[in-house]
Amino acid sequence: MAYRIAVVGIGKIARDQHIPCIGKNRKFELVAGVSRHGKIDGVANFESIAALKASKLKVDCVALCTPPSVRLAMARECLDAGWHVLIEKPPTPTVGELLAMETHARKKKRVLYATWHSRYNASVDEAKKLLKGKHVDFLRVTWKEDVEKWHPGQAWIWEPGGFGVFDPGINALSIVTKILPEAIFVEGATIEVPANAATPIGADIRFKRGDGTAADLSAVFDWRQKTGETWEIEVGTRDGLRLHLKNGGSVLAVNGKTVREAVLHEYEDIYAKFARLLKAKKSDVDPSPLQLVSDCFMLGKPVVVAKV
Ligand code: NAP
Repeated sequence: MAYRIAVVGIGKIARDQHIPCIGKNRKFELVAGVSRHGKIDGVANFESIAALKASKLKVDCVALCTPPSVRLAMARECLDAGWHVLIEKPPTPTVGELLAMETHARKKKRVLYATWHSRYNASVDEAKKLLKGKHVDFLRVTWKEDVEKWHPGQAWIWEPGGFGVFDPGINALSIVTKILPEAIFVEGATIEVPANAATPIGADIRFKRGDGTAADLSAVFDWRQKTGETWEIEVGTRDGLRLHLKNGGSVLAVNGKTVREAVLHEYEDIYAKFARLLKAKKSDVDPSPLQLVSDCFMLGKPVVVAKV
């Protein structure tokens, strides 16, 4: 029997990925949409989670596709209703909220799946395998795109909890935290915040290893690149291995030679995994990318830049 799922927050990512991918997966049946303005054709639509609950429609699980700032209260409401919960990235504005959400899911004996879509990629898996047991002494993340292309007309990205350029940047960090054999830590950062926004448009980050040995580890995030996207991660190890993940992690070069060009089916993989988690009654919550972002704000030097 298929899991009856409702999608909450009918915006760009719900329409681009969640609704089509649920439609393709026979383990799920889309039964409702919950959004103040957006609607899904062919299913029941509600303006709030409370209205969905009051309708008595049978629901097994929900996908929360709203911005992160409103997710904790929404997730709690859904978990209290007895529904399992999948959430978009970034999971919550703070690590504290994510841990509280995880605790609540455990208390309610429901599955919580905090997704990181950029991790679902054969080239990323290959990179992780190649780096197993290695001593990483070089990392350069370059994540640059045009905010107006990827977040057209969205105001929440500039508000507290909206993450600014860390909204895409956390995708890179979700890959980094998956593939590196050991955790890295923020050493310092410069964070560029537009004069009329609460969140950054650019960031320059230096990381360090946990064991104090010398390493050249850095990331640059920029939302002001008008011509195409640069989504790249380069990793070097003490024994001379050089990995280069390009195109958001889908293309992998090893020591200068392309070894894999993955076909992307991130959200298809996310729903396949959600079905497995539901069957096993297991949650999947990894706060490590969010922790790194949080630490950038803790240790970073803010610089005010031109208005957006
Ligand atoms: P979006 O287009 O703004 O859609 C979010 C929807 O959530 C809105 O349409 C809105 O629908 C609802 N919502 C509920 N409370 C809200 C609030 N307080 N402020 C604003 N909207 C609220 O955003 P999105 O691009 O789909 O992003 C949603 C999440 O998916 C983010 O965490 C983002 O990082 C992630 N994501 C986005 C992309 C992308 O390509 N944009 C890719 C991967 C992941 P109603 O007004 O109808 O309630």
